[in-house]
Amino acid sequence: MSFASLGLADEILRAVAELGYDQPTPIQLQAIPAVLTGRDLMAGAQTGTGKTAGFTLPILHRLSDKAVKGPSAGRPPVRALILTPTRELAAQVEESVQNYGKYLKLESMTMFGGVSINPQIKRLKSRVDILVATPGRLLDHVQQGTLDLSRVEILVLDEADRMLDMGFIRDIKKILALLPKQRQNLLFSATFSDDIKALAEGLLHDPLLIEVARRNATADTIAQKVYPVDRERKRQLLAHLIKENNWFQVLVFTRTKHGANRLAEQLDKDGISALAIHGNKSQGARTRALAEFKDGTLQVLVATDIAARGIDIDQLPHVVNYELPNVPEDYVHRIGRTGRAGAEGEAVSLVCVDEKKLLADIEKVIKRELPREIVPGFEPDPSIKPEPIQQRSQGRQGQGQGRPGSGGGRQGQGRQGEPKAGGQPRQPAGQDKQKQQARQPAAQAGNHNSRGQGARRPTGRHH
Ligand code: AMP
Repeated sequence: MSFASLGLADEILRAVAELGYDQPTPIQLQAIPAVLTGRDLMAGAQTGTGKTAGFTLPILHRLSDKAVKGPSAGRPPVRALILTPTRELAAQVEESVQNYGKYLKLESMTMFGGVSINPQIKRLKSRVDILVATPGRLLDHVQQGTLDLSRVEILVLDEADRMLDMGFIRDIKKILALLPKQRQNLLFSATFSDDIKALAEGLLHDPLLIEVARRNATADTIAQKVYPVDRERKRQLLAHLIKENNWFQVLVFTRTKHGANRLAEQLDKDGISALAIHGNKSQGARTRALAEFKDGTLQVLVATDIAARGIDIDQLPHVVNYELPNVPEDYVHRIGRTGRAGAEGEAVSLVCVDEKKLLADIEKVIKRELPREIVPGFEPDPSIKPEPIQQRSQGRQGQGQGRPGSGGGRQGQGRQGEPKAGGQPRQPAGQDKQKQQARQPAAQAGNHNSRGQGARRPTGRHH
């Protein structure tokens, strides 16, 4: 089955061919024809399945195929709205929109917090056909009267489960109320919790349900391995593995921002170029780190779960769980970074005695036992007793604010990121977090394109 047989416009086929896509992935085979007919869709698909093209290609086709509805005078309206939980994902989805739509006369824009709102306001004065946004900043624009959503024809909720986890439900409902009733709705989610089902029920009309095999069930292109090691020797083992095996483009996960910073610094001292990427970094620093990682200048990127969401890098060869995530599903998300769209990948976990229970929980979720391999010279000391693992104090995102052990969180945030009943906080936890991140100075607001920037990082320094 080819992309051409799905009935996509020639301009889109040309762009896809240039990207080297030979054939549609399973999610694309199902989603593209459905979206082209104008149907609502509820799709179970994780990052790495090709879901972005699954909704972007048919949206581009539909928008280029049909004239704008309604009055033709004045500025053309926003016709497609794609909501994502994080700014990284928004930037990457919009980059895909640009790549796939490069031969079409459609304009796109990203809109997210953490950067100055003014360039976005300016950008909105010219044509935007496809808007990719995070909910908090989008509502800021609506409040300021700089954004009109009354002529949106297609709505996408990407990674809807994450959006709910991050406490965006209230914002999503507010946004839905701003859209015309007559529209096409596409909901993508890696999991189908009761909350997602409830959201879908209120949102979707006669949706087509599609679900591609979860990566955890079919991750045969990902070699997964556990290295048992002592808590205090993880960093040495990681440096050893990277050097010994000559690993490049290594994405390393830590549980906390502080841990990410510390590990990146230590690796750098070990002669391995590494940077941390997490919510406390300025947008500029994140974009730079990502660009260097993509073009291979940077050997190791250390990330927290939320920062890594949606990092879209083709054929990422190595994912390392420096610490196991508290939530088993995050393990699946993490290893979904590698072995994408058929490419081979390797996901290794450095597991110390404290993490035995977490490992058991993960193996239960992925329904298989992970092979263990002890690296000579790094044999775990059987006399070391387990210590309790630092629990997250900040919502579901695993950003683990502050130093391990501080246990301190900002006040007024519910666990799991959901706004608590009563009180009616204006900002749910996730959005509040975004606002908090908005302290950073302005960086480029739109048109994120980190490919090929390749700015070299002066050595021994961290952003
Ligand atoms: P996604 O699941 O949307 O994050 O996409 C995962 C990766 O697969 C991205 O790097 C895409 O560029 C790539 N991709 C998407 N569709 C295809 C395809 N049909 N063939 C090859 N690669 C693809």
